[in-house]
Amino acid sequence: MHAHSNVSDGTEKPADVMASAARAHLDVVALTDHDSTDGWAEASAAAGRTGVALVPGMEVSCRTSEGISVHLLSYLHDPAHPGLLEEITKAKQARQTRAERMVTLLAEDYPLTWDDVIHHVAPGATLGRPHIADALVAAGVVEDRSEAFASILTSRSRYFIPHYAPHPAVAVELIRAAGGVPVFAHPVASSRGRIVGERTYRDMIDAGLAGLEIEHRDNPEEGRDFLRRLAADNGLLVTGSSDYHGTGKPNLLGENLTAPEVLARIEDLGTGTAVVRP
Ligand code: AMP
Ligand code: ZN
Ligand code: FE
Ligand code: FE
Repeated sequence: MHAHSNVSDGTEKPADVMASAARAHLDVVALTDHDSTDGWAEASAAAGRTGVALVPGMEVSCRTSEGISVHLLSYLHDPAHPGLLEEITKAKQARQTRAERMVTLLAEDYPLTWDDVIHHVAPGATLGRPHIADALVAAGVVEDRSEAFASILTSRSRYFIPHYAPHPAVAVELIRAAGGVPVFAHPVASSRGRIVGERTYRDMIDAGLAGLEIEHRDNPEEGRDFLRRLAADNGLLVTGSSDYHGTGKPNLLGENLTAPEVLARIEDLGTGTAVVRP
């Protein structure tokens, strides 16, 4: 229920993500590129060929007023809904400016140019730190993306610059308005940066949050108990996923799974577009 293609910072084309899902013996996969639905058409067209059903999705970058990063998965929303489209377009443009500024800072200390970064970005793709990481790998500064994120590119690094992102409760409302199903991605992923407190969960639930991605390798075990209680107390769906990025991350398709009944509930709730079955 959470995979990236080169429409954002995954390393495989959308059709190849579908083929990889077939090789991983999955019957369904959700394509959830960052702030973009540009991969839906290609992935949909590959459903028949690969025998894998596609859940059209997206991962929306959000930020709380305290500056804490929240990733929100959206399933089955209308990709043309003006309010949601406006927010992700703003975020996508801000990601470009922010990446340029980060590269300017990095270039003071490392052999890195903007061209080196662009070399790793598919045309029109949503730019992210992973693309900067790829350029640092090519320059021999780090071994892989993971090493880059553990050092130079963490949110605590002096080269890190945030980009515009909507408030998570606002994004939940927009996803619902677009007929989508909002699920909080890796909510307690403390290794990535600060995590949100009860207040933000409350705001998101009140705005219409539908589920929590609990089975995700970045959620530490302690945090999962809290999330399971929160889900039970508030009638939230529980999902599990890999957050696959091709060769960009060690995460493997199918390393976490979502129950068929949960997907059925997501399909009932999602009215903006439909699951594409082979
Ligand atoms: P950005 O969207 O520019 O803030 O970068 C965040 C993206 O980097 C997320 O999509 C993550 O999947 C990816 N990312 C975070 N940590 C790592 C890591 N350790 N290795 C590879 N990619 C990562
Ligand atoms: Zn990513
Ligand atoms: Fe994420
Ligand atoms: Fe992701």
